[in-house]
Amino acid sequence: MRNPSKPFLAHPLDADKLKEECGVFGVIGLEEAANFVALGLHALQHRGQEAGGIVSYHEGSGFNSQRRFGYVRDNFTKQSLMETLPGALSIGHVRYSTSGSKGATAMRDVQPFFGEFSMGGCAIAHNGNITNAVALRRELIERGSIFQSGSDSECIIHLMARSIQSTIPERMKDALRRIEGAFSIVAMTRSKLIGVRDALGVRPLMLGRLGGGWVLSSETCALDIIGAEFLREVEPGEMVVITGGGVESFFPFERTRPRPCIFEHVYFSRPDSILGGRSVYETRQRIGVELAREAPVAADLVCPVPDSGTPAAIGYARESGIPYAMGIVRNQYMGRTFIEPTEQIRNMGVRLKLNVNRALIRDKRVILVDDSVVRGTTSRKIKEMILDAGAREVHFRIASPPTRWPCFYGVDTPERDKLLASAMDEEEMRDHLGVDSLRFVSLDGLYRACGEEAGRDGSRPAYCDACFSGAYPVRPSDMIAQGFELKAAE
Ligand code: SF4
Repeated sequence: MRNPSKPFLAHPLDADKLKEECGVFGVIGLEEAANFVALGLHALQHRGQEAGGIVSYHEGSGFNSQRRFGYVRDNFTKQSLMETLPGALSIGHVRYSTSGSKGATAMRDVQPFFGEFSMGGCAIAHNGNITNAVALRRELIERGSIFQSGSDSECIIHLMARSIQSTIPERMKDALRRIEGAFSIVAMTRSKLIGVRDALGVRPLMLGRLGGGWVLSSETCALDIIGAEFLREVEPGEMVVITGGGVESFFPFERTRPRPCIFEHVYFSRPDSILGGRSVYETRQRIGVELAREAPVAADLVCPVPDSGTPAAIGYARESGIPYAMGIVRNQYMGRTFIEPTEQIRNMGVRLKLNVNRALIRDKRVILVDDSVVRGTTSRKIKEMILDAGAREVHFRIASPPTRWPCFYGVDTPERDKLLASAMDEEEMRDHLGVDSLRFVSLDGLYRACGEEAGRDGSRPAYCDACFSGAYPVRPSDMIAQGFELKAAE
């Protein structure tokens, strides 16, 4: 039986990727809103697979909430459970732990969180990371707050409780002015759906319309699943307060130049989402085109490491004129395993999830296109599989620059010394992976693919790219207090 304190075992293939932290979704003005939220969370499942939660509000029964470990489809499809979430106003959250009890989510850390104030209740779901949460938590505890969870998001509820404002949106504005970091928030009161994006817009948040209702979502792909029309992104630094009367917009933070997360375009967002006005799929193809221009090599086949390397491999093949082939096939039904695997199965590692198409690979010079290299453990195994299948040469092309720095903005990254690129230069990594060549797209190439034709403007970068550059747009105060050293300005 599955150990409830260790609900999912990340497959080795997933364990060597940066992981997006959470997805948020909210609906107002649609009967059985929680059913729409469940569908939206299902479409956002790639942003967090450990646990999910939904809160709804109904005039008769008040606030109702359900939080569960595991996939949305395994929990929030049960009629008996969904019937406990009535009402036309609902929010939800899917989680991969980046704070709180990391790696083994405790139920107390599963969002949405709830606070009861004199003017009514408020539920909050949060995607991202509060970079001064440790200091805030210490201060709040010293002043008498009693925390229920290990999550940084709970700070928002306690800060709201201490505000003297008379409405929940005003209290939330007070709280937001105290927090630093990167976050998108979806919250609800008895009559309002609230969405907030941090001043830099690091994490995404979309606004949609369905019939007479309104929808907030981390990504547009989750609007599509319920047939909602994508209206616009919630702007960086914007708070939207949505009621039956429509959308009110506020800007509680000092206005600043946006710095959305560039890794959303590389890997986190689904390829069928629209982000920053751009198709994520097309951006990934453009990255492949940039890679082919920057790092050509004579070869017979271009193969993606499925699934996230696929659009970039198509772009690379198109630009280079080298045939594209599905040289590696993913077993679609492995998912994450619910069983404790035996040692023998564990040793099969990547082979459980990926299989080499031997007939295609034998005697070929193969270009493998992947989205990123984090620890490099999976890349090594894939290279071995390709060579075992009889490839003559293996060339890795990576659709992001070397990941050298940890993310403190709500993405699960290994510590700096576990990132392959933080300890090795490109040639050392090539040697370590044992491939014939290894090249990463440049930061300028990535920016060009994301619509910045002149590349990265070092004095005014258009994106957060801290995991590649070490230039953190929000000071990671808690980490600095714990000894993390910021890179000296170049
Ligand atoms: S550090 Fe990297 S992953 Fe984190 S927000 Fe910035 S670009 Fe995204």
